[in-house]
Amino acid sequence: MSFNPIESLAKVRHEFGEHGGVNMSIEASTTFTVLNAATMPDIFQGLRGPEDQQKSAEGCYLYGRHFNPTVYVLGRYVAAIEGTEAAYCTASSMSAIAGAIMQHCGPGDHVVASDTIYGGTVALLKEFLPVKAGVATTFLNIADLDAVRRAITPRTKIVYCETLANPTMVVADLRELAKIAHAAGASLVVDNTFTPMMVSPCMLGADVVVHSMTKFMGGGSDIIAGAVCGTKAFVSSLMDTHTGALMLLGPTMDPRVAFELSLRLPHLPLRIKEHSRRAQFFAERLSERGVPVSYPGLPDHPQHKLLSSMLNEGFGYGGMLAIDVGTKERAFRLMEYLQNEQRFGFLAVSLGYFDTLMSCSASSTSSEMSDEDLRAAGIAPGLVRVSLGYTGTLEQRWAQFEAGLKHVGVLK
Ligand SMILES: *Cc1c(COP(=O)(O)O)cnc(C)c1O
Repeated sequence: MSFNPIESLAKVRHEFGEHGGVNMSIEASTTFTVLNAATMPDIFQGLRGPEDQQKSAEGCYLYGRHFNPTVYVLGRYVAAIEGTEAAYCTASSMSAIAGAIMQHCGPGDHVVASDTIYGGTVALLKEFLPVKAGVATTFLNIADLDAVRRAITPRTKIVYCETLANPTMVVADLRELAKIAHAAGASLVVDNTFTPMMVSPCMLGADVVVHSMTKFMGGGSDIIAGAVCGTKAFVSSLMDTHTGALMLLGPTMDPRVAFELSLRLPHLPLRIKEHSRRAQFFAERLSERGVPVSYPGLPDHPQHKLLSSMLNEGFGYGGMLAIDVGTKERAFRLMEYLQNEQRFGFLAVSLGYFDTLMSCSASSTSSEMSDEDLRAAGIAPGLVRVSLGYTGTLEQRWAQFEAGLKHVGVLK
């Protein structure tokens, strides 16, 4: 039976506001009362928490950097989308990622990670954590499952990947990776930023999912935010007052931001479907015209079948595609022409915006990587990553894009 994240979200998204409003209220207090003084030590020790809210009115909240009611409800929405027991939201996804990794790993521990992941995560694993925390990472091609098996050591605590890799569109085989990680006593941690609603990694065996809510979930390129999803025990461990990475490092989401995001999630499925519909159209046209395009919704994408086997029904293959126009110069000219002459999208990093965003990965989001690593990861110098928006009409947008490709000589 396949998982339906729309139904799952609808079941929890029914909070009344304090005065009967159709939206939840914003609880902006940084500190919370209890009726009986004896309740407070219980909350400190994690013996009483937000899930006990309904059971008693005696109080279950402590302080805003610990659980906040508004942020907690948003976390329940994200957990519903991912099909996990629990989730909590953070001030950015980098803090969610760092928190999830640090909660699992101590000095001497080891991570096996895909070599094609978000640049900030690469820097965290490659430069920061070895020096600051004694956590080492082996980077490898995540599609090579034998290499993953070989890289695992007795100290491996995490296998880390992105469902769909940034920017090469390589798909991770989450079912197999979960088996490999679990056989070694490690956890599979998956960044699902590119594929919310489309793929629910924990339903395929992953232990923890992280999100950049800055992208599709937020959808407006106006809010930096993250989420971490997993078991109740794991999310509680992140909030532990003595040992919790989120509680102690403190990347707290503001409740006003949580409220704002809570209004974006109900239409996330509609947005994803429209992103996908348009990207599929573009990818098919480009492919027919002989332009090198990477999009997992094309039958000739090397992992089309694999991704199809992991998808929740009805969301398509996502809004991200990449085209290779040959050289960096041509990529730059194409993006400038599209933005400045055609008013088609923006020359900017990031993704998941309602308008189109375009960037040349080798010289922007993946520029932390050496030329050698870029080649190894298949990030060509002329690779243009496109997060296809849904403003304007599809016909109008395709005509503009086609004009751009003609302008730089990719199409005749
Ligand atoms: C943008 C991005 C991040 C970082 O997100 P922030 O919210 O800016 O911290 C992490 N992973 C992926 C795949 C991203 O695209």
